[in-house]
Amino acid sequence: ISFMIEPIQRLTHMSTQFQEGITGFQRFMEIMNLKPAIENKPDAITLTEVQGEIAFKQVSFRYEDHLDNVLLNLSLRILPGEYIALVGPSGAGKTTLCSLIPRLYDVTDGQVLLDGINVRDIDLQSLRRNIGIVQQDVYLFAGTVMENIRYGNPAASDEEVIAAAKLAHAHEFIMSLPNGYHSEIGQRGVKLSGGQKQRLSIARVFLKNPPVLILDEATSALDNESESIVKKSLDSLAKGRTTLVIAHRLSTIRNAGRIIVLSKGGIVEQGMHDELLARGGAYAKLYSKQFELLV
Ligand code: ADP
Ligand code: MG
Repeated sequence: ISFMIEPIQRLTHMSTQFQEGITGFQRFMEIMNLKPAIENKPDAITLTEVQGEIAFKQVSFRYEDHLDNVLLNLSLRILPGEYIALVGPSGAGKTTLCSLIPRLYDVTDGQVLLDGINVRDIDLQSLRRNIGIVQQDVYLFAGTVMENIRYGNPAASDEEVIAAAKLAHAHEFIMSLPNGYHSEIGQRGVKLSGGQKQRLSIARVFLKNPPVLILDEATSALDNESESIVKKSLDSLAKGRTTLVIAHRLSTIRNAGRIIVLSKGGIVEQGMHDELLARGGAYAKLYSKQFELLV
């Protein structure tokens, strides 16, 4: 059981939950006669045209059975199409903050709003359909490349899957596989590099086409060449979408429209790279300690 519940509670395995909604999980919980912590309101709103404005209003959050607040009275407004880099020391609450948008957890206090609507009032599946996630751990299942990409939007045609793969800079390597899009992935199928898997997950999100994007940019597992291709596809994925990047790479941070510095569950600084560096505060410290090593 813990094998099945645990991934749901961890952002590192969020992609699974996101791309198929939580239907499978809910059915499982029903069978187990347990109550999922996050529920749909009976009159939940189904979103139509989402602009992608996100607002945190005096949000406090602590994990159940924990005493300390992970986020404390945090307010942040993100405009549609904005590109935000979240930086801060490990444990500052970056991942937790992002997990509140798709309601992996509900706030303890305050509100999270999407286009001015409290996420608690939005139908869960509808909410999550509008949010794309890319992270270091890529969830692939036994099946063909085509099936794995189509997971981002089960209704998509073959042509749409291929178009998404092209946008993600994955088409070329897919075509070089023995059976192209029909190559089997998994233990008995083709072996893919970390960068190739990552591009398949990016293709999924292109296919899903969500207005809101969360990137956990932990690319330490990729070699330099894959990293630069993955970065290229992530950059094009972010175009025209509200994007929150938990950023580790200096290049990403530099390009961000706004950098938010989190520390101990609160925003301690925000602004552009040069401005923050000149200020000589938390960001400058973080920069000299951490980012220099990661350029
Ligand atoms: P960051 O992403 O900035 O490194 P996190 O949001 O992952 O920080 O974690 C913030 C704090 O919350 C940390 O102290 C961490 O130990 C704690 N935390 C994270 N996930 C959980 C969880 N599922 N249950 C309890 N505490 C957690
Ligand atoms: Mg984190």
